[in-house]
Amino acid sequence: MTGHHPQTRAVHPPVISPVGSRPLGVPIYQGHLFAFDSADALATAFQGPDEAFFYGRMGNPTVRSLEHAVAELEGGTGALATASGMGAISAVLLALLRSGDHVIAQTALYGGTYALFQDLAERWGVEVTYIPGDDPAEVQEALRPSTRLLYLETIANPTTHVTDLPAFTAAVRGTDVLTVVDNTFAPILCRPVDHGVDVVVHSTTKYLSGHGDVVGGIAVFADPATHQRVWKHFLELGPVADPFAAWLTVRGLATMPMRVARQSASTLDIAGRLAAHPSVSRVHYPGLSDHPQHEVARRLLPDGAGGVLAFELTGGRDAGGAFSEAVRLIGLGPSLGAVASLVMHPASTSHRQMDAASLAAAGIGEGTVRLSIGLEDPDDLWADIEQALAKAG
Ligand code: PLP
Repeated sequence: MTGHHPQTRAVHPPVISPVGSRPLGVPIYQGHLFAFDSADALATAFQGPDEAFFYGRMGNPTVRSLEHAVAELEGGTGALATASGMGAISAVLLALLRSGDHVIAQTALYGGTYALFQDLAERWGVEVTYIPGDDPAEVQEALRPSTRLLYLETIANPTTHVTDLPAFTAAVRGTDVLTVVDNTFAPILCRPVDHGVDVVVHSTTKYLSGHGDVVGGIAVFADPATHQRVWKHFLELGPVADPFAAWLTVRGLATMPMRVARQSASTLDIAGRLAAHPSVSRVHYPGLSDHPQHEVARRLLPDGAGGVLAFELTGGRDAGGAFSEAVRLIGLGPSLGAVASLVMHPASTSHRQMDAASLAAAGIGEGTVRLSIGLEDPDDLWADIEQALAKAG
């Protein structure tokens, strides 16, 4: 830029690409645009998710690093990272469904996903049949010629219902129904693609980033054709991840397997202590032998049943509310999967869109309390839980 005026030089600083070495970690590419030397090369870039980078909404190297890392982790062929977990879920559903299509979904769903299905039904004419998710015969009964999608969660929120993914995907094998699974609760513990699932979605806000400093999501595709199909609509919907959020998530991924292993072990420990407490009427944790899908969990999640449990207090709704306000070390907040433990009361927060009947159908009690266990020492967590149980009565 020598020879230009200072104002022009200020607009065009040198952009340095490393020569003779390469960055060891993933760099942050915060810029939104990439320049080309030929118009043909730019035109080619528009053709698919794996072509050259050209505009931040369509792809970014930092975001692509995250997409490749999570696709590999989940055994997929490609991925699309989004600005939130709901961004991934809504992009996948809006891309794969059209008015008049029929969806089979399990009853125990994340509240936001349930609200989206309600909206799709009311405003877009997508019909949804809800099934308990206990028996693959439910799928065969619900199947229609217009069925396009089977939507499941590996471990459901907050009931910790575990779905037998191999049995449920087998129920739609040979049809053109795609299976979408929310694996937010079970990264590294379960790879739905290995069980025949077509699309895996995550709220990366949770375990994948893991430190409570990111809102993000990702959709992983088992085959390139579905990836390409969703990408086309993704460009129109625009739910792309920000490069800095993607970078934080890549950084979080490095410790995710160790965090999740430790969180699973601590949660099993706390679940056992809660089950033995006189103020607790029921504990929902797939790692406990009295959980309805304990045998499925042993098969599907052999290395641990995750870091979330739910429990019911003998004192019902009032006791649930009092417990969540009485904890001191554990934070009261509607999220999970971070290094710090959290408590919440689903009926008044994440599942507030559901009326009493829908809550009951989803197996959520009005007094159900959900705990997300972090990386604190389990003895310190138990001391906090014990004093809160005493106060809740
Ligand atoms: N899926 C599950 C299982 C969740 O628990 C959540 C959020 O709690 C979401 C999806 C939505 O993710 P986000 O809040 O990142 O949009």
